Amino acid sequence: MKLLLVEDDMALARALVEALEQAGVLADHTGSGAEADFLVSTEPYDAVVLDLGLPDGDGVGWLARWREQGINLPVLVLTARGRWSDKAAGFSAGADDYLTKPFETGELLFRLRALVRRAHGHAHPVLKVGDLALDTHTGTVTRAGRPITLTAQEYRLFAYLLHAMPRIVSRTELSEHVYARDQQPDSNVIDVQISRLRRKLGAEVIETLRGQGYRVVSTGDGA
Ligand code: CA
Repeated sequence: MKLLLVEDDMALARALVEALEQAGVLADHTGSGAEADFLVSTEPYDAVVLDLGLPDGDGVGWLARWREQGINLPVLVLTARGRWSDKAAGFSAGADDYLTKPFETGELLFRLRALVRRAHGHAHPVLKVGDLALDTHTGTVTRAGRPITLTAQEYRLFAYLLHAMPRIVSRTELSEHVYARDQQPDSNVIDVQISRLRRKLGAEVIETLRGQGYRVVSTGDGA
């Protein structure tokens, strides 16, 4: 999962980016509505966390503009404004969720994961293929109940492919969603990481389609 954090409180932003990364979530950060406006129309984020009080305009205004432009990615408003009328304005502008400061980072993560899961059409927090299960809340992968140890990067790759299943995911799409903006890998880096994942998860789980990309394939229950 890769998200855009729009927050002009730099200390809070730094702490959040770090906490998100520890939880396996990549986040680009900007403190400016105008830069966020540019980024959401050029970068394929899985979700946006949006502060409302920004130095260059109100977050509600930016959000309404994105929705008018047909940008439909999940947006969670994160703000100190907790009045009912503020929440109503946020949802009316197109917010999918609303969390008031101060907040627990854990709650933000639960809400974000649910938003991203829903955006991919999944309701259950545990995604399954065959006897493999990925728990989006705990960030763990198990086979028949036994834990499989993945690196943070391997987890992000598998989680993205599993959310997208049964769709084919191109290398470009994968690199945009699972690597930081300033750390885009060579395509052979992705190939190497996919090979490692196959060794850990079973070769049959991730299929390579030449010239198209990768997809997770169901090998039948318990196969
Ligand atoms: Ca602010």
